[in-house]
Amino acid sequence: MIALFIGRFQPFHEGHLDAIKQIKADKIIIGIGSSQYKGTKDNPYSFVERKKIIETMLGKNNQYQIMAIPDIHNNLRWVQHVKKIVGNFDIVFTGNKLTEKLFKEKGYQVRKTKIKVKISGTAIRDEANRLFEYLQKTCYSYEDCLKIAPLTLEINQLKKKQNAIILAHSYQTPDIMYGVADYLGDSYSLSKIAKTSKAKKIIFCSVYFMGETAKILNPKKEVLVPTLAGCSLADSITPAQVRKLKKKYPGRPVVCYINTTAKVKAESDICCTSGNALKVINSLPQDEIIFLPDILMGKNLQKLTSKKIILWNGTCIVHEKFNAHSILQVKKQFPNAKILAHTECNPNIVDFADLAGSTNDLLNFVDKTESKDIMLITECGLSDRVRVEHPDKNIIGTCNLCPYMKKITLQDILIALKNPRKNQIVKLDKKIITKAKKSLDKMLLL
Ligand code: SF4
Repeated sequence: MIALFIGRFQPFHEGHLDAIKQIKADKIIIGIGSSQYKGTKDNPYSFVERKKIIETMLGKNNQYQIMAIPDIHNNLRWVQHVKKIVGNFDIVFTGNKLTEKLFKEKGYQVRKTKIKVKISGTAIRDEANRLFEYLQKTCYSYEDCLKIAPLTLEINQLKKKQNAIILAHSYQTPDIMYGVADYLGDSYSLSKIAKTSKAKKIIFCSVYFMGETAKILNPKKEVLVPTLAGCSLADSITPAQVRKLKKKYPGRPVVCYINTTAKVKAESDICCTSGNALKVINSLPQDEIIFLPDILMGKNLQKLTSKKIILWNGTCIVHEKFNAHSILQVKKQFPNAKILAHTECNPNIVDFADLAGSTNDLLNFVDKTESKDIMLITECGLSDRVRVEHPDKNIIGTCNLCPYMKKITLQDILIALKNPRKNQIVKLDKKIITKAKKSLDKMLLL
């Protein structure tokens, strides 16, 4: 069956595209009226450009044929005129009353299309332009921005309506960071925002333990995570293993890195982040402490404090992969490059780095340094941030992707706002919240 889709048609109106997708036919001819393919001020795209946009947004599909139908403003000859251009078709789909009437009068079967999604073509175009301004500095094309524009628009509209904020970790993908996020940062800075925010709902685009942290700090608020994503560090230790450690080393306080589950935080004395770990450790009166779960960060800290640190054998699968030899080889080619490493990296990298610190520390360094060449020994999301926020800098070398952080998509965020799945809602036992909050509050107080 051949269907003709025709009407007052903004070719990349999300509602029209949605209506087209609902049509069941072997072939669908999409007719574009003349006013839309002249490239006027209101409709700046030519027919060829509009055709390309529709093809991009519908995805590659031979089922669709896009045709230009010049307007003749003659109701009596209109159907005949269309038929002459389009050829044979069996059924007409339209949302336009006059088109419906004219085709019905000529004996055609006509079905109405319902516009369920109210996002106009102009809004999509403007949003794609906004996105492209940021995302072109990463790996996104204009076509990519057009494809995601309906999603970011809908998410941003829902966010306002629901008094929600989106917190995104700097390891998220650029479409999330620059398309929908209200705040970007590392686990520490975002948890501080979560604590002071007046929003009713928090969407935390990051791994699960960060959503838990936001919930601990805001037990009355609705906290959602778009995807259930673990973390090699957080998953490396259970609360029972912490209890065992405490038994083995009585009297030693447990300092837990923020990359731990709520239950592990609840078993710990004080929490810390990569930015404040040393301050936290040195603030404790005891000479020996248990630090968990990151063994590499623990070893890095051991070099900076006189206290004895008892370690746990967890690692971040992203930062442990960096190789000191390869980094130094690249440095030979770019002798002026500044090496900035996350403290989750191996000590043999941290030792020669110009700066070792948290994600925010690295970014602050880039903000201030006059060096053009920067080597970021961390997750790729941070390189994306520097590319967007400091286009004058050269990112040298490579980065590693976090498979957990990169699990989150715009579609997941939309679902979390529209109709959250059970596993998107962060729920914690009251007792765990109370106990874990103590260890977090101690850190925040410092
Ligand atoms: S980068 Fe490392 S620490 Fe951060 S979420 Fe991924 S695995 Fe966990």
